[in-house]
Amino acid sequence: CAIPNFQNFIKVIEKLYLKAANNMDGKVADYIPQLAKADPNLWGVSVCTIDGQRYSFGDTDQPFCLQSCVKPIAYAVAVSDYHASTIHQYMGEEPSGLYFNALHLNTEDKPHNPLINAGSIVICSLIKPELPLADRFHYVLDNITELCGREQVGFDNTVFLSEKETSYRNFAIAYYLMEKDCFPPNTQLEPTLDFYLQLCAITATCESASVAAATFANGGVSPLFEHQKRLLGPVAVRNTLSLMHSCGMYDYSGKFAFHVGLPAKSGVAGGLFVVVPNVMGIMCRSPLLDEKGNSVRGIQFCEELVKHFNFHIYDDL
Ligand code: GLN
Repeated sequence: CAIPNFQNFIKVIEKLYLKAANNMDGKVADYIPQLAKADPNLWGVSVCTIDGQRYSFGDTDQPFCLQSCVKPIAYAVAVSDYHASTIHQYMGEEPSGLYFNALHLNTEDKPHNPLINAGSIVICSLIKPELPLADRFHYVLDNITELCGREQVGFDNTVFLSEKETSYRNFAIAYYLMEKDCFPPNTQLEPTLDFYLQLCAITATCESASVAAATFANGGVSPLFEHQKRLLGPVAVRNTLSLMHSCGMYDYSGKFAFHVGLPAKSGVAGGLFVVVPNVMGIMCRSPLLDEKGNSVRGIQFCEELVKHFNFHIYDDL
């Protein structure tokens, strides 16, 4: 099995969980009014191994918005529908080195990668563009529900409306993308942006999202015995994990790759979606964010995790 002595393993996880719980550094995101209301004390960690062993600590059964943690999933869904090379005609594979919502494109006037706002907005324009918006949303929601083992997945309309009302920066990014011809022909700006903001407002719990992370860790096959079916192709998984490794933590990505060495994706609601390839998926949640927009406790937990276990991709050399 993926983790032979699971009891011992979770004892260490609990210690790391409790240690990070004392860390009150960081601030709840307030640029989306509804997110500013989040309880800063919330803290949860769920793990799910590729053979379905699971454990959770703390606040792991309350739904919260995936926010940017949805970006790798939206990208993987898009890559499953298109040839990856088609997607990457529209965007790059480089970290931007900038804040996630920077009004900035690469030297070819394309988004740097699909895991920052500009790239993810273009990804949204590419997902089933021929269908009505309702079907496009349903298609992604359905994929996420399957990835989460058909456990808790939902939609937070309050956050969606709150973000839409104040999303001047994302509108600016979308207009800039329009100006630079970054979308496929006939893309309409407002429905595309709505779709993007709706995907950000999809909710999951640490428990359900850890199953999705474990599906990536397992090469695209669900770790749950009831399903054990392939949900993502190998190219979608490989591409997504590569991008999470180099670009998943915004302008902290290089440091995270150096110190933790695992593909991960953060979101401003405090989610941190982490994949330990061939071993397990982890979903952390703590709304206290550092100045780059990453969860402080989530990062602390991951940094300490790789001190205790050989999970850094270059640990086995
Ligand atoms: N919905 C958020 C935004 O567009 C997502 C950003 C994030 O989670 N970092 O600003």
